[in-house]
Amino acid sequence: MFVLGIESTAHTLGVGIVDADGKILADVKSVYSPTEGGIHPREAAEHHQQSCLLVLKDAMDQTGISLRQLDAIAFSQGPGLPPALRVGAVMARALAYTLKIPLLGVNHCVAHVEQARFFSKAERPLVVYLSGGNTQLTTLESNRYRIFGETLDIALGNMLDMFGRAAKLAHPGGPKIEELARKADGTYLPLPYTVKGMDLAFSGLLTAAKRLLKEGADLVTVCYSLQETAFAMVTEVVERALAHTQRTELLVTGGVAANKRLREMLQIVAKNHSARFASVPPKYAGDNGAMIAYTGLLLQREQIETPLSASHVMPKWRLDQVKIEWH
Ligand code: AMP
Ligand code: MG
Repeated sequence: MFVLGIESTAHTLGVGIVDADGKILADVKSVYSPTEGGIHPREAAEHHQQSCLLVLKDAMDQTGISLRQLDAIAFSQGPGLPPALRVGAVMARALAYTLKIPLLGVNHCVAHVEQARFFSKAERPLVVYLSGGNTQLTTLESNRYRIFGETLDIALGNMLDMFGRAAKLAHPGGPKIEELARKADGTYLPLPYTVKGMDLAFSGLLTAAKRLLKEGADLVTVCYSLQETAFAMVTEVVERALAHTQRTELLVTGGVAANKRLREMLQIVAKNHSARFASVPPKYAGDNGAMIAYTGLLLQREQIETPLSASHVMPKWRLDQVKIEWH
């Protein structure tokens, strides 16, 4: 049993292949990186179109199996940028139709969570999903990933990237801000801290941090203050969710999960609440085809297939709209 998964929601065109046990046989990607500004949806789609066949070929070559040996084709059906999503969807439909094998529409957010669960072997974790497009706190309850808290405006990763652009750092800004913040001497410049119940908001923080830069504040100090503020906000809602749900596992996933300072803060909060801390391996923190293939495998086991007629992309498909039939 081999499932091939295609990821194309935003910057990454990825192809992953897993076997019946979820073991990753191949995980190949090509990442679009804008020369200036943020991700331009049409440019991302053009990148995906140009790279998709090469990425597919690379992935197939790594496994040593032939297309005919594949048992199902999974693809990121949403949420994401419509033009980018369509490239993966077209590729998946063409493959599934030609090979006469099932097509599996995967929710990208569910895939991040499932892959992190697979690696961490967490049983019933509180999951913090922090990426370029999403900031959500979730637990599986009665067959759905219930959202406890989320951003009310922009995602944490997006906020970091937008600040990075204002500071003339190359895209993506997150890792560069982390590197600069590490050099700070501990001077903290006060910034807006916005937590509303279990929800977060980052745009006021972004505006204020950009203003500090304009006023001539030291970039290292602003990066440090920005990280400390944003991560403290995340940590506060995580702590409240842990206390409320009494979950004994805390699992962090998504691109921002690669940040060491954030992990350090979440680790402290997990320890204080006697929860085991786990994080997705940094290699798989960002978007990848393997997570789509693995979630496709979970769907395939439950025989939840996506007919061609229902394979349209769903740019606004939320995590909590998916019925989780496994676990
Ligand atoms: P994803 O959308 O899951 O592919 O994650 C991409 C996001 O993760 C971007 O916003 C990056 O800036 C962010 N990111 C990646 N590495 C780091 C890091 N070390 N610290 C903070 N953010 C990061
Ligand atoms: Mg993602």
